[in-house]
Amino acid sequence: MTVLVLGGTSEARELAVLLQEAHVRFVSSLAGRVARPRLPVGAVQIGGFGGVSGLRSYLMEMRISAVVDATHPFAEGMSANAAAACHADGVPLLRLERPGWSEAPGSDRWHWVDDHDEAAGLTATLGDRPFLTIGRQSLHRFVDALSGKAALVRVVDEPDFELPEMWTLLRSRGPYGLEDERRVMADVDVLVTKDSGGSYTWSKMQVANERGLEVVIVRRSAVPADVELVKDPAAAAAWVTSRQ
Ligand code: NAP
Repeated sequence: MTVLVLGGTSEARELAVLLQEAHVRFVSSLAGRVARPRLPVGAVQIGGFGGVSGLRSYLMEMRISAVVDATHPFAEGMSANAAAACHADGVPLLRLERPGWSEAPGSDRWHWVDDHDEAAGLTATLGDRPFLTIGRQSLHRFVDALSGKAALVRVVDEPDFELPEMWTLLRSRGPYGLEDERRVMADVDVLVTKDSGGSYTWSKMQVANERGLEVVIVRRSAVPADVELVKDPAAAAAWVTSRQ
């Protein structure tokens, strides 16, 4: 029997190390979205399963005994599919999700919004040089509201559409140091982000706090009440090994 780790995060990679050390048989899966993904140790499969039905077939064919959903807090489609497939087939499911920034320093003065459209509309009213750090896939939702602003856009891979003329593209991948973020954010007046949590991308929040910049932050969706949740890879590894 094999444990499936739905990955694409640093926590998933840390969990893979712990499972390997504990001699657990497991496979990590990645969506295959970025050109050069950071790979976890151990067996990896890249590419989607084909929705809930595809995932159910995979769980059966690969004799998956348990699933750890360690995807990014905003990979909501994959998490929903995992919950549906595991529920349908009685496969134990654990959600590994790093804590968000709702209690972090400065969070009480940030603008918390429910989705990217709300973030785009609000950002347009707050400044002229927004820094968009919301990921390539959500970028198109900011075009209408912000095409007349001098936005700085940071993504890992090139967006698949032409950016408005006034926007500047910055391609890079975290983690980001504090000094680098101070330099990158020297001219921006609004930081737009998701509640990704963790320390990998925290420096930009710290710089925004230092400078008193406006911060627009998209809230996470709640984890379904019937899905067990842990916050760190060690707890996820303990959950897995307790079932071996
Ligand atoms: P998503 O919208 O929730 O998922 C869309 C589809 O991509 C899923 O239905 C599934 O395809 C496939 N998929 C997603 N994660 C997968 C995984 N770990 N293994 C196999 N298939 C996966 O996902 P997303 O927001 O595009 O994120 C894609 C990946 O990037 C995730 O692994 C996530 O952990 C990572 N990531 C996401 C973000 C973010 O902000 N969203 C940030 C950093 C890293 P099928 O329906 O065909 O199975």
